[in-house]
Amino acid sequence: MPKWVYGFGDGRAEGRADMRNLLGGKGANLAEMCHLGLPVPPGFTITTEVCDYYYKNDRRYPSDLEDQVEAALDEMARATGRGFGARRQPLLVSVRSGARASMPGMMDTVLNLGLNDDSVEALAADADRRFAFDSYRRFIQMYGDVVLGVDQHLFEEQLDEFKARRGHTLDTDLDGDNWAGVVEEFKAIIERELDSPFPQDPKRQLWGSIGAVFASWMNQRAITYRRLHNLPASWGTAVNVQTMVFGNTGETSATGVAFTRNPSTGEKAIYGEFLVNAQGEDVVAGIRTPQDLTEAARRANGSDRPSLEAAMPDAFAEFARNCEILEKHYRDMQDLEFTIERGKLWMLQTRTGKRTAKSALKIAVDMANEGLIDRDEAVLRIDPAGLDQLLHPTIDPNAERDLIATGLPASPGAACGEIVFSSDAAEAITQKGRKVILVRVETSPEDISGMHAAEGILTSRGGMTSHAAVVARGMGKPCVCGAGGVRVDYQGGTMTAGGRTFAAGEIITVDGTTGEALAGAVDMRPPELSGEFSRLMQWADAARRMKVRANAETPADAQAARTFGAEGIGLCRTEHMFFEEDRIVAVREMILADSEAGRRAALAKLLPMQRSDFIELFEIMKGLPVTIRLLDPPLHEFLPKTVDEIGEVAKAMGVKPEKLRERMLALHEFNPMLGHRGCRLAVSYPEIAEMQARAIFEAAIEVSARIGQTIVPEIMVPLVAVKPELDLVKGLIDATAVEVAEEKGIKPRYQVGTMIELPRAAIEAGKIAESAEFFSFGTNDLTQTTFGISRDDAANFIGAYTERGVFANDPFVTIDRDGVGALVRMASERGRATRAGIKLGICGEHGGDPASIEFCDETGLDYVSCSPFRVPIARLAAAQAALKAKGHEGGSGTA
Ligand code: ADP
Ligand code: MG
Ligand code: MG
Repeated sequence: MPKWVYGFGDGRAEGRADMRNLLGGKGANLAEMCHLGLPVPPGFTITTEVCDYYYKNDRRYPSDLEDQVEAALDEMARATGRGFGARRQPLLVSVRSGARASMPGMMDTVLNLGLNDDSVEALAADADRRFAFDSYRRFIQMYGDVVLGVDQHLFEEQLDEFKARRGHTLDTDLDGDNWAGVVEEFKAIIERELDSPFPQDPKRQLWGSIGAVFASWMNQRAITYRRLHNLPASWGTAVNVQTMVFGNTGETSATGVAFTRNPSTGEKAIYGEFLVNAQGEDVVAGIRTPQDLTEAARRANGSDRPSLEAAMPDAFAEFARNCEILEKHYRDMQDLEFTIERGKLWMLQTRTGKRTAKSALKIAVDMANEGLIDRDEAVLRIDPAGLDQLLHPTIDPNAERDLIATGLPASPGAACGEIVFSSDAAEAITQKGRKVILVRVETSPEDISGMHAAEGILTSRGGMTSHAAVVARGMGKPCVCGAGGVRVDYQGGTMTAGGRTFAAGEIITVDGTTGEALAGAVDMRPPELSGEFSRLMQWADAARRMKVRANAETPADAQAARTFGAEGIGLCRTEHMFFEEDRIVAVREMILADSEAGRRAALAKLLPMQRSDFIELFEIMKGLPVTIRLLDPPLHEFLPKTVDEIGEVAKAMGVKPEKLRERMLALHEFNPMLGHRGCRLAVSYPEIAEMQARAIFEAAIEVSARIGQTIVPEIMVPLVAVKPELDLVKGLIDATAVEVAEEKGIKPRYQVGTMIELPRAAIEAGKIAESAEFFSFGTNDLTQTTFGISRDDAANFIGAYTERGVFANDPFVTIDRDGVGALVRMASERGRATRAGIKLGICGEHGGDPASIEFCDETGLDYVSCSPFRVPIARLAAAQAALKAKGHEGGSGTA
């Protein structure tokens, strides 16, 4: 005969914590608390298998369920000395739902079940009349609401009216006879609404409640919740039936909720609230203001109402001991519910508590230091993505928010400053030492300098992969984009939002974590990178196999990368260096020159600038590896656009603007994605690669001498599809190295490798590796060219992508193992087959995505490279990947 019912109570239980699939989270933990000897009101759990049976059998129960429930009720009667349905000493119970994972949307708890017109008198005789009838009216109201479906408000209105009739305002003003009167009126509501009287038979009440719990598994709220959280309907819910204990018998009784540590700060102190003379959800319902549990919290909150510690010292002391026992046992912070009946403490629930990222960090580090968990487990307990919350300044949660617009949370963190509408204004004002927020309809590569200067970015158009979003994330700047409610008037120098007009110079705040724009300066909290954060990072570093590098080209980014613990630069894009204001004219001269001599003249101007870029970078990186990618984008991206710009370049070159226009037309790129760009530029303009290689070698030689350590730059050739392309550029680099060696008398040391960013390159990887000393997977382009979303998601996503005008290249999509992932795996295998120990890395946005990092670890990559602000996330994710590979279980806990 299958066992459908598991009893618990009095230091014994048939279930255990690890039976949560069968007993639900609540039931399994109630059983576990019994094994630990904690005071748990006796009861029983009806298993999730009954729920399953119920739905597979036309909403009928297994035939032997009733007998097993009867037997369990008898056991409860023995344990309590009371009888279910008895006229004297009635046994009252609660009926509580409990799925495997805590699930809002399930049936609410029914308390005080078993009361009827007879047993309420017995309870009144036992204790007091006021308490008995208060409990009875609560039962009718809850049962009416959650089991019979009678509108809650009808009861509330009736109670208000009842009080008004007698000139009372507070529930506590009502005496026993008053509550007996309320009970009659509540029963009348039920009878009126349902055409049948309130059920008096406790057995009927019990089965009504059990049925309501199982039925609620398939109600709309629960179905929606499961769909949103990917929980299978087949799990089912359990039902817990438990002896009532009463927190509402008077001044020596109470009910409360607690966390064993502070869920928002992680501080090791009991944290929570309680109410004297109250029951169930009164504490969270907000009808009365709850009191603090500890004296310390009471003092901190400046409350003049006694703490539990002061009001009921014995019960509190026992509760504090239980907190310790439970933490030790579960080895994690617990979220608890308890009730005190006439001075006696009862434990009603325990579960792993939800917490903020900050709290999760402190708790994990503290628990490792306390010896409760080991360091690897501490590392596994932190959600890497959650670290993002900690790495940027954030808005003080207590600050007032004057919301003016909402957009997408494109890049986390908060920033405030004066509104500017152009990059020029951003630079001009920041040079004066003031802070700005760059507000644009959308941004383009020309706004890079303004974005750098700005504290934060707000755009009215564009999605999570718009230029503003991607660049802001890379820079670690807070960004809200696609705030449709913002109207920007560049001409007038104003924007309107939330029905108000803001002029340039007015202060606003952007919250890139929530996607909100706020008027005025809002109080901020700085990020905390010391203390627990750095401890946990040390432990993560000890656990990981892969190295973590950063994608960085400016000194500021490189510096940030070092601060965040990057072990090198995995991608230095040189085109960004070309865009700077003092260079763009020389770059344009170079592109537009119609002879090699003209190009060389312009490149001669660029060489010292490039060299000084690399010198600065090498100095900051102090001998750590630096991968420099040669010029990549199609040249037309650098072309002048406005009449003024064309005029400026024409003047510098000493040609007529018309001549320039002709040349620009000739350079027009028909296929910017795959056309005349990357390594193919070197076919037409070998001088560019030569100039860049020279700048790299000269810088490396100079800095090597200065720091007394040989710098070995990694020169990366972009957009290679087949080996001959790489060989061509490698030939130019090698020849330049020979030249430099002759001039300087020092032979530069360097490596040449390539970015694998085309599907064809992945296929050719075995051949390419004959020439390439390293591969770096450029998964952004590889994703675009592979249409890199999972097959399952493709059906859902294509519509969304085309609507947003974004081709399937969402950096937030984890590497798809069947698409991009398959190419990465194949290229790694083929590359290693040709050149054992070929250095393998990734430099796409996936390099900062925890799930993709796990894939990279499995694939055996040597390093991941991501934007500087994601370096800590990548370090942690790489550590977790390594630990999981060694067989550790994943952790949990972050809210
Ligand atoms: P939820 O899952 O919504 O928290 P619970 O089943 O935990 O629902 O019940 C909510 C509250 O009802 C508990 O926190 C507790 O205060 C009260 N409660 C439940 N069962 C009992 C009981 N047997 N005796 C006293 N109070 C109870
Ligand atoms: Mg609830
Ligand atoms: Mg609860």
